[in-house]
Amino acid sequence: MKVFPSDWSRALAIVAHPDDVEYGAAAAIARWVREGKSVGYVMITSGEQGIEGMDPEVCGPLREKEQIASAARVGVSNVQFLRYPDFVLEDSPELRSDLVAVMREHQAELIVTLNFRDRWPGGDYPNSSDHVNAGSAVVAAAQEAGGVRWVAACTSPVSTHGVDVSDFVHEAVASLQEHREYLRGLGPDDRSLEMLQEILTHGGVQLGCESAVVFELIPVGGESAAS
Ligand SMILES: [Zn+2]
Repeated sequence: MKVFPSDWSRALAIVAHPDDVEYGAAAAIARWVREGKSVGYVMITSGEQGIEGMDPEVCGPLREKEQIASAARVGVSNVQFLRYPDFVLEDSPELRSDLVAVMREHQAELIVTLNFRDRWPGGDYPNSSDHVNAGSAVVAAAQEAGGVRWVAACTSPVSTHGVDVSDFVHEAVASLQEHREYLRGLGPDDRSLEMLQEILTHGGVQLGCESAVVFELIPVGGESAAS
């Protein structure tokens, strides 16, 4: 596992759902923001199908509010929602073109996204099609946008680079806890907070520190790519 590059200044986290950033990536984002880097969030959907028994029209705005509160916990105030339909996300030309636009608008050098491989590390759990489709649209858009140097997919089963977040676990936990209604909806047996701790601890073992976030770092080709 290599140390994640630090010679960049502008990143955009682009994910399918509210809460996708909070299973690990937010810890690295907390560190980057503390180091003075600019980080914004783009949510492709508002996760309106994500709370069982709740009307999507109520759920979407609620989850947007929770995501904004969650981002604030790691120092991110720029949160944008593209409001594509949740749970049936497709890698479409419209989505790619919207993503190119936000990447250019933010002048992003680094795009952070969630694992978009078919499976999660360990091999037993299949990834959701929203995550897979979001990831392929993000990679295609990054190649087209110009100026993007890397796409970093958090918790990929083929991770290559890690960020030491030993001093930022508290912020990461607080940011996940801001998804209050979402976590409540998962029921009393939900293990989300334990899962986050396990992700960070396991990343630490891989990188050789207490806690780390690991990413599959994909260099983006094209004339603007520096490395
Ligand atoms: Zn998700």
